[in-house]
Amino acid sequence: MIVMKSLALATIASLTVLTTTTALSQEPVPYVPPTRVTTSQADAFDEHLQAARESAGTEWLGVVDHMCTRGPVVTGSADDPLIEPTRIFDNVYVIGRTSTVVYVIETSGGLMLIDAGYSDQVDSVLLPGMAQLGLDPQDIRYVVVLHGHADHYGGSPHLQQRFGARVVASEADWEVMEAMDTASGRPAPPVRDMVATEGEPIRLGDAVVTPFLVPGHTPGAISVVFPVQDGENTHTAAVFGGTALIAPMLGDALPQYFESIDRFADIATNMGVDVVLQNHPLFDGMHGKLERLKLRGSGDPHPFLLAAPDSYRRFMETLSQCSQAQVAAAGNDG
Ligand SMILES: [Zn+2]
Repeated sequence: MIVMKSLALATIASLTVLTTTTALSQEPVPYVPPTRVTTSQADAFDEHLQAARESAGTEWLGVVDHMCTRGPVVTGSADDPLIEPTRIFDNVYVIGRTSTVVYVIETSGGLMLIDAGYSDQVDSVLLPGMAQLGLDPQDIRYVVVLHGHADHYGGSPHLQQRFGARVVASEADWEVMEAMDTASGRPAPPVRDMVATEGEPIRLGDAVVTPFLVPGHTPGAISVVFPVQDGENTHTAAVFGGTALIAPMLGDALPQYFESIDRFADIATNMGVDVVLQNHPLFDGMHGKLERLKLRGSGDPHPFLLAAPDSYRRFMETLSQCSQAQVAAAGNDG
């Protein structure tokens, strides 16, 4: 089981600076290179780093590099480089920036979006991306908001008002969105609509997207599992929708966060998940996968396919160990 150090108050105070620069803010986060530690510093940080390296193998080294750090984690910002809007599977498209993306699932009954991106990037990023991919926004039926932070739900009211999209979120994160302080610049929430519940599929046309509650990053963060099509082959993708890039900030919610990671690792493994998609694709190797997808020849394996049946579990375990390493570093340094 996971044992956590309690955070010194001084640490929490020092992390407050980081709080304002996470993905929920739209302000750019200055890049600060991660601080590395030497192996001679035998402490909890090193133990978690070591465990992370073991679970990562070669497949998830990006998680270790990005997340297993004593220093500030690069959380991305609202003006990070745009990624090329791409059809990654026959039924799945990705649009957005290197740090935050929206997935579009194409179904026989219209389009389902996973997240909606930033409020002020519907017209500048999302809709142009859809146009480039030949997707008509009038076909958007559902927008599934994986958690109630501005970089994920921000665009949803526009899609609701302009295209009549139904917005889906967990009950707890409807409350998170509705409690947003719009006076301080947070985008308005969508009008209350559909509630996602544990394991209850969201169906649209021939698509079945199954949500699971993964509280921690927010009280009602959800992850989704859905089939993706690659020619004749059907695979199963998962988006873990509540990744906390700076885990120590979660404070009291930390145990719940780690529990959600463990639980979703079990769910994904049991459901045969063999594709990882992230709404913050900063550390899952997405950039390289998109590059390989471009160069893919007929008969080449799909670059988004995981290496082994335990890959997803190792991904989650690496994420967990690195988050615990961050917590240990915050405790030690505080
Ligand atoms: Zn968030």
